[in-house]
Parts: sequence; structure tokens; C-alpha cells
Amino acid sequence: MRIGSFFCLLVFFCLNLKAQNYPSNYFRYPLDSAVNLVSPFGTLRDNHFHSGSDLRTNGKEGLVVYAAADGYISRIKIQSGGYGKAVYIDHPNGYTTVYGHLQKYHGALVRYIHQYQYKNKTFEFDKIFDKPLLFVKKGDTLGFSGNSGSSTGPHVHFEYRDTKTEKIINPAFFGVLPYDTLAPFISQLVFYKFVAEGLMPKQRLIFAKNKLVQEDSFWVWKDTMELDPEMYGVGVEAYDFIHNAKDPKGIFGYTLSLNGEQIFKHELNRFGFDETKYINTHIDYPYYKLERTRIQKCFVDDGNKFSNYITNKSKGKFFLNTGERGFLMLKVYDVNGNNAQVKVYYKVGSNRIDKERQNYLATLKGKKALYPLQTNYIRAAGFEAKLDPGDFYDTIYYYLKVLPRIKHVWAPVYQLHQALTPLHRNMDIAIKVDGIIEGLESKLELVYFNKEGDNPRSMGGNYNNGWVKGKASNFGNYSVLIDTVPPSLKQVFININPDPSDTLLWTFEIKDNFTGISSYEGYLNNRWILLDFDGKNNLLTYRFDEIYEAAKNDALNQANQGILNPTLELRIRVSDPKGNQTEKLFIMPFNGF
Ligand SMILES: [Zn+2]
Repeated sequence: MRIGSFFCLLVFFCLNLKAQNYPSNYFRYPLDSAVNLVSPFGTLRDNHFHSGSDLRTNGKEGLVVYAAADGYISRIKIQSGGYGKAVYIDHPNGYTTVYGHLQKYHGALVRYIHQYQYKNKTFEFDKIFDKPLLFVKKGDTLGFSGNSGSSTGPHVHFEYRDTKTEKIINPAFFGVLPYDTLAPFISQLVFYKFVAEGLMPKQRLIFAKNKLVQEDSFWVWKDTMELDPEMYGVGVEAYDFIHNAKDPKGIFGYTLSLNGEQIFKHELNRFGFDETKYINTHIDYPYYKLERTRIQKCFVDDGNKFSNYITNKSKGKFFLNTGERGFLMLKVYDVNGNNAQVKVYYKVGSNRIDKERQNYLATLKGKKALYPLQTNYIRAAGFEAKLDPGDFYDTIYYYLKVLPRIKHVWAPVYQLHQALTPLHRNMDIAIKVDGIIEGLESKLELVYFNKEGDNPRSMGGNYNNGWVKGKASNFGNYSVLIDTVPPSLKQVFININPDPSDTLLWTFEIKDNFTGISSYEGYLNNRWILLDFDGKNNLLTYRFDEIYEAAKNDALNQANQGILNPTLELRIRVSDPKGNQTEKLFIMPFNGF
């Protein structure tokens, strides 16, 4: 009883927070169009929940992006990946808006950024303004929509944050709410049985829609489910349709009740960036890795500290007794309140010999355990790993194997557990090197293999006293490689982001074989120039600016001194993290621009 009433109070509080505290008419939509989303807040993604709303720009770049309300520029961040060209505005009402993947900035921002980049000799930077310097009015042009950073298609990434805590808030509460009268749909329910503490065998009862009948406002699973006297948890796969979108989106929230009493509720209201990786325990991670389908849990794992759940004492899990009959009701809903509900009747049989359970428990025999609340050390000859408290979600029964040697590695391949078990934070890994050619120590790094010897992925790391030490974001197969290959660099004649004002530019393709590009710099007639690095397209671009004008003057002076074909000297240097460097001199014709 006490749990029940406490629970109601929480729900009441939550709805109030949503309705009262967020100003829904204060901000304008940052584009000229009506609200139209490519991807809403909270969309389930690899290793994170989507932190904003992706605003549709109809596949185009160059749309005007407006300040959502009065305020001042509080941060400018430019990256070759991530949000690309982004700008943040702090508003006097305590919220921050963020605009990402811009093609370019406008007005005073352009001048400020250009000066900043030349002064600090860097294209990429993250400038946080302690004091207001650049003020904006609601509706001022900030820049133009683009596809910069790690964006995979033109759109604007738009966020609302609480300025003080930097927690990201669902933009729907501020009016970024698409017209939507379409109900979401549930495509499967999964019943998980808990066997060992916090562990699940692969027993699933999959639902399909053709087995349902409609009753009033909800669906009923036709057959009564037969369950065992065990601890259960439920998972759901569900999507939402919105108008003007061909593909289904994620749902906003869902609740599970057992015999009429709500035992679990999840809503994507707000969260901190330090919480976003809980996605890996919010969903059935192994199933996602194998099937690419995300089942959202209606229970909370012990190691799951994501702040958007409201649950009872048993965190959404429930124990069923022999002979018990009852029903479960699952409701999913979108941010407009459209919902879908399914009711499932069950009856509980008596204890039986459960082969699956026995097989599962047999696989744990002889394995060592890692515990999520303590520091765990894994040590073997030539291999060490360390996992700190909070690095993973639940007790893990692991194995460590030394695999047969493969070509080109400088240490054995170590297989630590398997990649279907998620990590919340990177763990420390150290591998002893077999033998090394003197002078090449700094070129050694850790590598990760999906399978044995397959697709090596750089993990970075550094050599120290016979070992290479670094971080691993996944369990799996590791070894050591040596990287002595410098990045490639060549001039190309393409403009990947066509912009009519961008006709005066030079473009270069830079690629690294393995580790990636860590630094790049260019000089035109020995003067540092601003090179825009587009990481996903491997493109370096120089847009003619005052340095070009200066070089042009050099050329005119040469011409005045009687030199027949004056040229411009462009020197570009590109490095990878292992210090492998390529430097090229391009003699650019002076064409009288
Ligand atoms: Zn986005």
C-alpha cells in the first residue's frame, strides 16, 4: 500500500513538472518551416540517447537558422566530427539552446570565429564565454543549416539544456512538437526470466500482432500465457509514427502494470550527458548486437542509474507464485499523448525441470566473476585489465583466452569475455610486447578485433617499459600493432558541400590508414592558413581569405620584379597520433584572382 501511494505522488509530481515549469511559448522554432523532425529527442542510438531534436531541412543545406530567443552566445564549438560547427545561446530564463551541424555562421559570429581561429592557429576549438560578449535577439540569423561534423545528412541538431546543470531537456516541452495524431505501435513483448542474480538466460516469448484481438482502447493477447514460478521482467519493442515522416520514430514513454498496479514507468524527459550511456543497460544489449533490434526493458538493472524511471521497490521485476493468475498491461505513448496498449493474461504452472536454466548455470561453472561495485583486476601472463566501480552494470562471469597468433601483431591475441556484454566506461588494458625493434616503441598501439584477426580497430595507447597500455570500450579480442604509415595527402577538385559563395577554394583529401588524423596545418607563402577539416569526408578545405590576398600581393611583387610566372607556395602537414607525418609542398598557379 505504502509503495502504491508513494508511486502516485511521484507520477503527479512529474506531470506537474512537465506542464508548469517549461515555457512552451517563449522560444521560436529556429527554422522558417513548421516543426518537422528527422529524429526526435531520446531516439535510441549506439551508446547514447539522442540529446536533441533533429530538424528537417528537406535534404538541403543553407537554410537560415534563427536564434530561438533573446540571449548571448555562451559557447562556440567547432569539430571535424561531433556537432561540427555549433553555437550555444544562454537565455535569461535559465535555458540554453544549441544549434549543431551548421554549414557556416553569420554576421558578428563569422568575424569573431575567424579572428579566434587565426589568433589561436586552429580550425577546431571549444570556446566557452564566461562573460557575455555577443548578444542576440530572438529571430536573429545565427548561420545556415548544414551537414558538418558527424552528421549523415543535412539537418539542424537542436537542443534545450538547463543552463546551470547542462542537463538536456526534451524540446517538445518548449514547443518543438510535431503535428501528430498517429498512435505508436508495439511490435513485440519479451518475458525475461531471472536465473542467477541479475542474469538472464535467452528465454524469450515473442509476441506478434496477428495474435492479438482489439478490445475498446487496447489490444489483448489471445492466449493465456503460461509462466513459471520465477522472477520475471518484461521488455518491449515499440515505435511511433508521426506525420510527414516515412520511417517510424522512437516512443516517448511507456508504463507496465501488474494486475492494475503500475510497477514501471519510463519517460524521456531530461538527462545528463554522463547518463546517456545507460542506453546499453536500458535496452537488451546482446539482443541488439545480434539482431539490430532494440528491446526496451520495463525493469531497472542494479547498475542502471538512468534518471528517467519511476518504479516500485523491485524495480519493475516481479515474482510469480505457483497457481497464480493475473494480467499485465503495457502502455506506450508518444509526446503528443497518442498511445497503444496491450493486455496479457497469464497463469503460473508448478515448478518443473528447466533444461534451459540448467544449461545456463552450467556455462557459469569454473568462470570467475567481475563485480560492478568494486575494482576488478584481471591478470594473466602478458595481459592485465582493470575495471573500476561503475564501469559495467551487473555481475559478469568472464573468461580469458590466449588465441593462436596472427600475422603482423607484436603480442598474442587475448580474448577477454565477449562483446555482447556492454561496458559503461572504458576499462584499462595492458599487453606485454613480445619483442620490439629499437626506436619503434612510440609506434606501438593496442588494437581491437571484432573476431579473431578481423577488422583491426585502433584503441590508441602508449608503450611503457615493455607493455602497451590503453583503454578498451568493449570486451573482445585485443593485441598490439605497430603503425609507421603516415597519412596520405592529395589535392582534389570537388566541393562536397556546394555553396554558391564557395567558389574560391582549394580542397585536399587526407586519410590515415589506421589511427586517424590527429593534426593538420597549412601555410601559404609561409603564413598560417585556416584549413576546414571535414572528418567524415576526409576533406581539408582552404577558403580564400586575407592570407590569400597577402599571397596575391607577393605574386604581384614578383611580377613587378620581372618574374614571368609567379606562383604561390602552399605547404600542408598532416600527422596521425603515432607521430607519422606527411608534408607536401603544392606550387599553386597565380591565376590573377
Ligand atoms: Zn541530432
